[in-house]
Amino acid sequence: MKEIDWANIGFGYIPTDYNVRCVWRDGKWGEIEVSSETTINLSIAATCLHYGQEAFEGLKAYRCPDGKVRVFRMEENAARLQATSRGIVMPEVPTELFTEMVKRVVRLNEHFIPPYESGATLYLRPLLIGTTAQVGVHPAKDYLFIIFVTPVGPYFKGGFSTTPYVVTRDYDRSAPLGTGCYKVGGNYAASLRANTWAHEQGYSCEFYLDAKEKKYIDECGAANFFGIKDNTYVTPLSTSILPSVTNKSLMQLAADLGLKVERRQIPIEELETFEEAGACGTAAVISPIERIDDPETGKSYVFAPDGKPGPISTRLYQKLINIQYGIEPDVHNWTTVVIE
Ligand SMILES: *Cc1c(COP(=O)(O)O)cnc(C)c1O
Repeated sequence: MKEIDWANIGFGYIPTDYNVRCVWRDGKWGEIEVSSETTINLSIAATCLHYGQEAFEGLKAYRCPDGKVRVFRMEENAARLQATSRGIVMPEVPTELFTEMVKRVVRLNEHFIPPYESGATLYLRPLLIGTTAQVGVHPAKDYLFIIFVTPVGPYFKGGFSTTPYVVTRDYDRSAPLGTGCYKVGGNYAASLRANTWAHEQGYSCEFYLDAKEKKYIDECGAANFFGIKDNTYVTPLSTSILPSVTNKSLMQLAADLGLKVERRQIPIEELETFEEAGACGTAAVISPIERIDDPETGKSYVFAPDGKPGPISTRLYQKLINIQYGIEPDVHNWTTVVIE
């Protein structure tokens, strides 16, 4: 294996030695298979290709300063994938099968887990697809569940820092009774135009409002929103956002730190009142928001006039990564040591 410059790999794709797979056929899951192929053999008529029977997950394995390798809340990812399966009529991957495959794939690719000092991590990508060849629109009978891994670079190369976001009113990523609460590729396909538009304008990401009334903050393309004010952590309650494991963890940590936690609708005008705001997800943990511009109203909601992340966001970020890296006591039992 050639040397990898861990600190500069970015968030792309580097093939690794092995992935793990499991096939659903005749109404049941088969044995876990270990593969060194980075491709799959798929019918051109597979339902995942035509009708979007595709779901994915994302989690990380961390090489910790104590030398152990930990994964974070993988049972939550298993549960969310099960919810997604119910949402688009696919078989559920049992939690035990999911967690066994997570452990196997991390151990098999041990030398692709970046060193602690680099700030890089091993990203795990579980993928569930319908593989039955059929042109009629109905759920597949056969499915393939894969977990592959790829090392990803540190999210904040120049340190934890703020970036600008923009509200889109021309596009929706999901509908109130649609698939926004499931982790499916279709939501991402629906977000690509707005995402491209936001990037072209120099923003980090686009922010969606609720599709029905266009009044409330939903989330950004691939991360949940939270705001901080009056010692309170506020995050949207909406049927069209993806329940983020990071957000769920931050809500608990905010409560642990003595903040009030509110999950409720957040009218866009309320942005004016927040002292801090952030986007949260596995990739960045917290991406502190410098400002959110709303081109239609010409308003700019500024959270970090000095460009620096706020004190509460910083504490929450530190606390969460310290737990992920086994530096602080894991009082909620969120991590699993996969390699001693
Ligand atoms: C995956 C994802 C998130 C973040 O979820 P985490 O579990 O925290 O990584 C947020 N929004 C969307 C749309 C996502 O797909």
